[in-house]
Amino acid sequence: MEKDLEIELDEPTLFGHPKGLFYLFFAEMWERFSFYGMRALLTLYMVDVIFEALTDRDYATAAVYASYGSLVYASTVIGGRISDKILGMRNSIFLGGILMSLGHFVLAVENNVAFFIALSFIIVGNGFFKPNISTFVGTLYPDGDPRKDSGFTIFYMGINIGGWIAPLLCGWLAVTYGWHYGFALAGFGMLSGLIFFWTGIRNGVFGDRGMPPANGSIDTKVLGVKNRYLIPILSFLTVPFIAYLLAAYKPLGSEGDFFGDQNMVNIIFKIIGVSILGYLAYIIVQSSPDERKKLIVAVLITVFMTIFWGFHELSGSVITLFAARNVDLGGIMTASQTNSLNSMWIIILAIPISMLWTRLSKKNLNPRTPYKFGMGLLFAGISFYILSISQGSADENGMVPFAYLLLMYFLISVGELFMSPVGLSKITDLSPKRIVAFMMGVWFLSSAFAFQVVGFIGKQLSIESTDKNIGGFETLSIYTDGFLLIAQYSVGAGLLVLIAGPFINKLMGDVH
Ligand code: GLN
Repeated sequence: MEKDLEIELDEPTLFGHPKGLFYLFFAEMWERFSFYGMRALLTLYMVDVIFEALTDRDYATAAVYASYGSLVYASTVIGGRISDKILGMRNSIFLGGILMSLGHFVLAVENNVAFFIALSFIIVGNGFFKPNISTFVGTLYPDGDPRKDSGFTIFYMGINIGGWIAPLLCGWLAVTYGWHYGFALAGFGMLSGLIFFWTGIRNGVFGDRGMPPANGSIDTKVLGVKNRYLIPILSFLTVPFIAYLLAAYKPLGSEGDFFGDQNMVNIIFKIIGVSILGYLAYIIVQSSPDERKKLIVAVLITVFMTIFWGFHELSGSVITLFAARNVDLGGIMTASQTNSLNSMWIIILAIPISMLWTRLSKKNLNPRTPYKFGMGLLFAGISFYILSISQGSADENGMVPFAYLLLMYFLISVGELFMSPVGLSKITDLSPKRIVAFMMGVWFLSSAFAFQVVGFIGKQLSIESTDKNIGGFETLSIYTDGFLLIAQYSVGAGLLVLIAGPFINKLMGDVH
């Protein structure tokens, strides 16, 4: 082990970190640039172009947005598995990046079929790219290396620099020149990410990391085709199937029916959810008492995270529509561009908040995880409360001041920093080694399930109209009443977590 550490530390470093980190930083920055640049346009593009002629265009948009978001995160579980067993991280990142850029370029074609095909390319591509680039960062440091946490903070910065600039640029292109220019820029962003990754490999900064697993099956033939070719072929073949699922956004039944308001993707996620909970219950029963307690906490924090993302991820859907219809943006930015505000605050706040934890730790005052989670949910609740009371400051056209939106994003970003990075590291501490990869998958699934929550809320707050300029008082109270309800749920959940804090702490044992 000590020898390993020496070898790793001998590697070329930059600002005290392995050089490879900076290549991964830029690769992920550009990938997130494409992901969030596209996301900034997605809802408005659906409402204004794809579903333009429908009176229930808001409903259709909410449903497709939810299916897209759920699948784009759920695919990471499969992409992670295939990488561990067969492809290795390098191949997976390349395959994912190529599929994602293809998706963005297909989006530049303004056509409804192309639209669903494009989203499916992004779903499959993200499944290969996202989990593997995150795990790659971890492999740059030997176990127990104290630089690992700050390495991840730097990486999180890369994510958010992409998430900050992309909506500004893609949003500007979309408004000034047309939607497809915005989408195409996202595609070039993804290509730049791949070029950075490739340059890193050429310069040898990753050593021999990320190769296919030594005793894996990359060259095993299935049906006469080697896995290294079969997997890309299967990935392409999956695309039309997923496109079909996305396009089938309508409920299978009508109200009161067994299927009620559920479409196919909703039902698939209900089945997955129940199966995973069942499987987790089985593992929990089988575990030793100490493991059992920790696993229960791991499941609890994943559930809390799902609730948080369920409200947070409304930013690309309902909040973008609210910004377009009811916020006086005063020429500062367009509705799509408001998608950059979350990342902007994260860039400003990430380092101060991580320094706060270090400082409090020194005084033995660093709050334990459940308290951070409780507070994170409270922050989310207060952020939606602020948005709901903006109604009182509406002008004669039913437009509220931009400051409310800015403050809302500030508060929810503080909440995010109290939860997301903390939770990520706790999952690894709380899960027994033998299932840590599986638990990582469950952690990513929290984002997938969150989009089901986003879809549910988006459908409740959808407005029936084909009027492109709908807004003002016609929509204001629908949104602000909805935000008030979300605030109440989030504050309620936060308070429950805080009250349960001492009990959860006991279950956590020696994990802080
Ligand atoms: N903003 C973070 C990212 O893009 C986390 C998003 C999420 O998991 N919902 O990586």
